[in-house]
Amino acid sequence: MKSIIQEKKECFFCSRKDDLHLHHVFEGRNRGNSDKYGLTIYLCSYHHDMSDDSVHFNPIYDKLTKIIGQLYFERTYDEDFIEIFRRNYKED
Ligand SMILES: [Zn+2]
Ligand SMILES: [Zn+2]
Repeated sequence: MKSIIQEKKECFFCSRKDDLHLHHVFEGRNRGNSDKYGLTIYLCSYHHDMSDDSVHFNPIYDKLTKIIGQLYFERTYDEDFIEIFRRNYKED
């Protein structure tokens, strides 16, 4: 499934267009749901997992992308995000 978050193939944070990785916004048991619902984003290696400013090492960046993922899901689908993903990222 094509991303519902991004139209362009560029880093979600810095707009870089090379050195890109496809990141699943929700991983673990929800990795399949990220694929199914298009909740993926492109990130340069620096913002993916190669620095303290990356989604895999900075919990705030991770949380930010998850909130954005939930908001995009909710405006795109009629299904219940919390029922499917078993968590509400807009809280806490
Ligand atoms: Zn970047
Ligand atoms: Zn990733």
